Amino acid sequence: MSKTWSGGCQCGAVRYELLERPTGAHICHCRMCQKAFGSFFAPLVGLPRAKFRVTRGEMSNFHSSADVQRGFCKACGTPLTFDDLTEDRISVSIGSLDEHSAFMPENQYGLESREPWFNEITKIPAYDSGEGAEGVTAYAARLPGFAATNRQHPDHDTKDWPPKR
Ligand SMILES: [Zn+2]
Ligand SMILES: [Zn+2]
Repeated sequence: MSKTWSGGCQCGAVRYELLERPTGAHICHCRMCQKAFGSFFAPLVGLPRAKFRVTRGEMSNFHSSADVQRGFCKACGTPLTFDDLTEDRISVSIGSLDEHSAFMPENQYGLESREPWFNEITKIPAYDSGEGAEGVTAYAARLPGFAATNRQHPDHDTKDWPPKR
């Protein structure tokens, strides 16, 4: 059996499967992708549409233009796909893939909208969760509570979701 690649939304209502390794990982800085992802850019990787299938729930779609629909989970809002209907390819959001770290972007698009400070972003101070410039923060005390009540779907397929208690 050949390897499949799985992914889905934060709440787990929508899960999908890729029947081959997607290619062409990129980030798109265009203003439409920024808005659709609520972020500085959209991280995407694509494959033939016939190799993509939803395995749990149903994706909702927003036609951001006549030819393009953007798939998302209507229960939690996670952006899942970019689908140019004039092509036989579909792209998935890299962050929604279970093995997201396997897809380093190879190109950047939408350069005209790239945030002017984008190339500086790796130089700003960086901390683990619960740490800040002053050291460990009050937020750290809340981390066990967040972990204990975490409703995010794990990075693998599950038989039942939400888990049966
Ligand atoms: Zn969801
Ligand atoms: Zn874009």
